[in-house]
Formats: sequence, C-alpha cells, structure tokens
Amino acid sequence: MARGQKSFDVIVAGTGPAGMLAALVFSDAGFSVALTGPPANRTDGRTTALMVPALAVLDRVGVLSRIEDAAAPLRIMRIVDATERLIRSPVVTFHASEIAEPCFGLNIPNQVLNGALEAAAGAATGIERRQSLVDGWEIGEDQVTARLADGSSISAKLAVAADGRNSPARAAAGIRVSGRPYPQSALVLTFAHARGHGFTSTEFHTEDGPFTQVPLPGDRSSLVWVLKPREAERLAALPEDALSLAVETRMQSMLGRITVDSQPQIFPLSGSLPSSFAKNRVALVGEAAHMFPPIGAQGLNLGVRDVQQLIEIASANREDPGNARALATYDSKRRPDILARTGAVSLLNRSLLSDMLPAQIARSAGLSALGAFGPLRALFMREGLRPGSGFSSLASTVREQVRRKRPGGDQVEQHRH
Ligand SMILES: Cc1cc2nc3c(=O)[nH]c(=O)nc-3n(C[C@H](O)[C@H](O)[C@H](O)COP(=O)(O)OP(=O)(O)OC[C@H]3O[C@@H](n4cnc5c(N)ncnc54)[C@H](O)[C@@H]3O)c2cc1C
Repeated sequence: MARGQKSFDVIVAGTGPAGMLAALVFSDAGFSVALTGPPANRTDGRTTALMVPALAVLDRVGVLSRIEDAAAPLRIMRIVDATERLIRSPVVTFHASEIAEPCFGLNIPNQVLNGALEAAAGAATGIERRQSLVDGWEIGEDQVTARLADGSSISAKLAVAADGRNSPARAAAGIRVSGRPYPQSALVLTFAHARGHGFTSTEFHTEDGPFTQVPLPGDRSSLVWVLKPREAERLAALPEDALSLAVETRMQSMLGRITVDSQPQIFPLSGSLPSSFAKNRVALVGEAAHMFPPIGAQGLNLGVRDVQQLIEIASANREDPGNARALATYDSKRRPDILARTGAVSLLNRSLLSDMLPAQIARSAGLSALGAFGPLRALFMREGLRPGSGFSSLASTVREQVRRKRPGGDQVEQHRH
C-alpha cells in the first residue's frame, strides 16, 4: 500500500442519487465508506417518482423527512393512448387504493432529493467525503485502489460503481457493456395548471414516445415529454406562452390552462446493459448497471433495489464484502429484476414507435386486458411496487374470487379457519 493511502471497507464512486444512497446504506450498516465524486447536481430540473419500497429505504437513512414537504403523493396513475393509430387502447387507470395502499409513491424534485442525500451523507460519521473524481483504478486480488483527481489514493475491499452511464469503474473491472442511443430525447419542465391534478399522473402514449405528467405539490406538475430530438430542440426554443400552449394541447386541456414555470431541459436517451453486474471487486448500481428510457418511473427505483440487494449480500460477507463469491451472488440476484425491467420498458417503447400492426395489436390487447381485469391490474401494480409480490397476490386474489363465486364458498372458508 502506498504511503498515506487510506483504507476503507467500501469505496462508493459517484455522487448521483444511487451513489449517495449507497454510501448512506453502507455506513448505516456499520461499514467504513469513502464517497468520492463532485458536489451533487443542483441544476437537474427533473423530478423522480420513487415508489413506496424505495421511500422506505430513504426513511431508514433519515432522508425521507427532509424531502416530504417538497414532494407530492401519487395516488392514481393513468395511461391514455394518444396515438392516431388504427388500433388504439382504452384509457387504463390504476388506483393505489385497489391494492390497499394510500399512494404508489412520491414525486420528488431531483434538486431536493440530491440536496437531502448530500446533507445526510455529509453528516454521517461513517462516510468520508472526497470531492474528487476517480482518475484511475487498480484492481488487485484482495483490494481495489482508486487514484483520485486531487492526487490522493484510497483503497477498499469493495468498490461500488455508481459513476453513471459511462462508468469508468465498470470499464476498469473489465465489464463489457452493450448499448445504443435511442432516436428520442426527453424534454423536461414543470408547469402550473388551472385545474387540480387530484394526485393523478397521466402518461399519454404517442407515436414518438410517452408524454408523462406527474403531480407536484399545489396546482403544479412536472413533465417528461419523449420525442424526436429535433422536435425537443424546437419546443425548448419556443417562447414560454407558445410552449405552454403546446403542452396544454398535448394534454387535451385535461388540467385547464397551463403555464410553464421552469427552463426546459433536454436529456438524450439511450439504453445499455453490462455483461455482468459485478466482477473483480466492483459492483454496479444505478445507471452504471442499467440505462433505459424514462417510461413508468423505473430507473432510480431499480437503482435503490440494487443498493438493497448489495447491502444484504455485503452484510453476510462482512470480512470481505468484495469477495468473488459475494459478487457472483449479487450478479445472479440482480439479473432477473434488471433484465425484466429493461426488457419491458424497451418493448413498450418499441411498440409505440413501431408502425407494425402486430406490435400495435399486442400493446393495445395488453392495455385492454389491464383495463378490464381487476386482478391483472393489481398484479401489474404490485409488481411495479415490489417485484415478485404481484404473482403471489394474484394467486390469492383469484383464489378469493373463485371462493366467492363457489356455492357455499363462504361456509367452506369458515370451516377451514
Ligand atoms: C427524463 C428522466 C426522467 C426520469 N424519471 C425517473 C423517475 O420518475 N423515477 C425513477 O425511478 N427514475 C427516473 N429516471 C431515471 C433516474 O433519473 C436515474 O436512474 C438516476 O438519475 C441514476 O442515478 P445514478 O446515481 O445512477 O447516476 P447519475 O445521476 O448519472 O450519477 C453518476 C455520478 O457519477 C459521477 N461520476 C462520473 N464519473 C466519475 C468518476 N470518474 N469518479 C467519481 N464520480 C464520477 C458523476 O459526476 C455523477 O455524480 C429518469 C431519467 C430521465 C432521463
């Protein structure tokens, strides 16, 4: 070890939401953590819809109470087929009350979320904060060493790569990644509206991608408008009143008169997937582990589940949380969830962009079935919140319905209990 090189249990590289949360969760579990990366992004105009299970993790590390006032609950989610296609689906509405939840989650401005995570990480005694990029990695058999841009070096048994879509730590670990840019960008802004949103988020499906309004506190909402990059540029350059009118028209005036009240920002979209989620003492979390278009508020929710799975495995391997077997377990446990979400989002996106009739019929049939069949809708909602829980609940809901329909079904149940 080089002179003056400090050693930790874990190095977290990256100070986006996934990295800051990972540092907090590891420190909370008693690991010594170095968190390295630039100051948190305070110019991000996006909001993030985080679902109830992810909020529980924020709560455990003392961050939820810092963000609640600036966030709005999501009670109803609605999908509107706004395509001009031959085959169109009915409106599908999901109520959190259908699965006995008060809300699906909270919509949080990213600046608030990042600020709260940064403040909590700064206050945690188990986290040493290094405001520096990692310049290079040395991956050894027993430890990893990060050379920081400030000239210092740190080492640890495990490196958590939360360094985003181009993840230098992932490359240093020799993990290949396949990806491609999408022919779409996301135009992001916030707006005030004349009518109340009733804590409803509406996703309009269009031929260019989804247009998603998500409630904020008061009569305000955020918007993620996925469209062709050139159209995103054109809209972002419009004067405020013309842009407000374009948003209102696309929303079919559902929320009355609209006034855009933020500077629009554009995010080019891409998708990527690594060949492995952990290798050579490096575990990937957040966008280092998965990138896909912002449909159905999946990205950071999946990132929080990465962190949860990683801490569970690291806690069972306290002596050496970066050992090969622990990382192989992380890789195999994360794979089904990440592949399922990535596949579903990409399929839905492609079915929107596709002119092919079979793709339109499949999407329409899927949404129609969701709209018409309560247990399937409940399955979809539960799977969205807690992967794996939907199928067990579907089985019990269907059993319950079968029992109710069976003559004397109630009595059979009473005898059994
Ligand atoms: C328009 C849009 C809307 C979205 N809405 C939602 C939503 O509603 N719900 C949801 O769950 N998800 C949503 N997402 C996805 C979500 O935003 C991402 O999953 C999340 O921001 C990823 O966070 P991250 O920490 O992994 O990456 P990032 O935020 O990209 O952070 C990466 C960090 O690594 C740092 N870094 C890079 N290189 C180095 C280095 N060499 N050394 C140290 N640090 C380094 C960077 O400076 C940065 O701080 C949305 C995405 C988009 C584009």
